[in-house]
Amino acid sequence: MTYDSIIIGAGLSGLTCGLLLAKSGRKVLIVEQHPEPAPVVRGFSRQGIYFDSGFHYVGGMGEGGPLRHLTKHLGLADKLELFPFAAEGFDCLRIEGKADDMLLPVGLTRIKDCLTGKFPALKLQIEDFLNDIERRWCDFPYLDLDKNFGGSDLKSVHEQSLAQRLEGFSAAPGLQTLLSMHSLLYGVSPQDASVTLNAQVAGSYYHSVHGIAGGGRSLVNAYLERLAETGTTLRCRAEVGRIIVADGRVAGVQLVDGEIISAPEVVATCNPALVPALVPPGALRPAYRKRLTDLQQTPSALILYARCSVPTPFLRRKNLFLCSQPGILAVALQSRLEERPMYLAGADYCRDTGGVKGIIAIVPTSMDEVAAWNNASQRRCRQYLEWKKQMTGRLVRHLPAVVPELGELEPLDLATPLTLQDYSRAPQGAIYGVGRFLGQHNPQPQTRLPGLYLSGQAVGGPGLLGTIVAGYYTCGTMTDHELLRGELRACR
Ligand SMILES: Cc1cc2nc3c(=O)[nH]c(=O)nc-3n(C[C@H](O)[C@H](O)[C@H](O)COP(=O)(O)OP(=O)(O)OC[C@H]3O[C@@H](n4cnc5c(N)ncnc54)[C@H](O)[C@@H]3O)c2cc1C
Repeated sequence: MTYDSIIIGAGLSGLTCGLLLAKSGRKVLIVEQHPEPAPVVRGFSRQGIYFDSGFHYVGGMGEGGPLRHLTKHLGLADKLELFPFAAEGFDCLRIEGKADDMLLPVGLTRIKDCLTGKFPALKLQIEDFLNDIERRWCDFPYLDLDKNFGGSDLKSVHEQSLAQRLEGFSAAPGLQTLLSMHSLLYGVSPQDASVTLNAQVAGSYYHSVHGIAGGGRSLVNAYLERLAETGTTLRCRAEVGRIIVADGRVAGVQLVDGEIISAPEVVATCNPALVPALVPPGALRPAYRKRLTDLQQTPSALILYARCSVPTPFLRRKNLFLCSQPGILAVALQSRLEERPMYLAGADYCRDTGGVKGIIAIVPTSMDEVAAWNNASQRRCRQYLEWKKQMTGRLVRHLPAVVPELGELEPLDLATPLTLQDYSRAPQGAIYGVGRFLGQHNPQPQTRLPGLYLSGQAVGGPGLLGTIVAGYYTCGTMTDHELLRGELRACR
């Protein structure tokens, strides 16, 4: 079978590229190694509770937010039922030992008012910090449609780090935590994250915050419906083992079962560190192969899925960031589990009016902790299951102690770095794949191998916003940026 374009990976980036390339008139095939599309974000149910996996909330979807015109252009907007997060506090920070939680209200003006009211001595610095975020968070041609395309706009490789920027707030360590806690949402520590990266992720949530009714599963279903409408073919359990190169350009892919599928264009949305092993030796320059292979990955995570003994209104349309101490957020992967920062979200939060029945707790963790079992035959061995049981036990004892609003927790499942690796194929089970670390040049969509393009969170950024932007950036590179931006302008 011959296609115009083959997309490797049916994650949010692959599905976005699929829609855009089909829209440009191409005959598109998306291939996914997992048995189901978008394995990272589709969520799952346990004992009647739906748990989101790789999608909890999204920023930039509110009035005037750029995700509005992007989802409209993709044909997804009408298929998604959005609901706003708690206006008075969508994200809550709890620092152990401190009497009061800190809440971030929705909207930059509200956040400014709230924080300058709480920290009047830092008024000018707070305003300056937030104004800077407001200026930067949409500073990319697919988000700001009036901005000219410069080509390297996603790079913010050598600028000030978020930690350096927040040093000026040392008189208020709790505020430093509040303004750095969203680094958990992109997997790069404040010391290694540029102020631009933080602005792009945190700023979208400062602008507006929504959940999607039905969570990540509904999001994936909306994509699938739309892809079916465009006639795009999606094949699961279809792992690419090799990108075929003939006469110096891409000619298709070969699946691990040997099947050959022809196409003059291949878009790899998998983790870019996996790409060199798919391409024949000599097809990419050695320096470029090494650059891709050596890209720094974000840490992995342990993710607890648990049932609350009583419905808890506390996490309804609101998340909790837990930290053991104030100051600029630090993630020491060697520290005790209980001392690491954690992110908690409610399960099925849009449906439950009384309160959520389950929680999802995400704790940064290194693959090193499970490396001994990183082999298919050892996954289900007694020691690994025993280790999971111990970690689960520690989390279900620790969380109610620091968040008594949850009541008792009944653990229903635990994802480990091995789980994340299985679902995304990301090396080391990297939670957000390749991170955008200061000093690291992340790959651009175009490669030197004619017909081979890259997309995915390494190219744009993590999250629904980052992956949609990555899809546009790659497909605009393959087609015509100005044409695509013109279509987007019509959707404003
Ligand atoms: C725990 C967690 C919570 C999150 N919470 C949020 C949130 O609240 N809001 C938000 O916006 N974002 C959130 N994210 C981030 C978001 O889920 C990711 O940024 C996004 O899913 C990445 O999409 P992607 O398509 O770039 O990568 P992936 O989803 O990793 O897609 C790559 C795909 O390629 C496939 N693949 C790899 N190799 C091959 C091969 N050889 N052949 C065929 N297929 C292959 C993989 O199976 C995978 O499906 C969260 C992520 C995680 C893990």
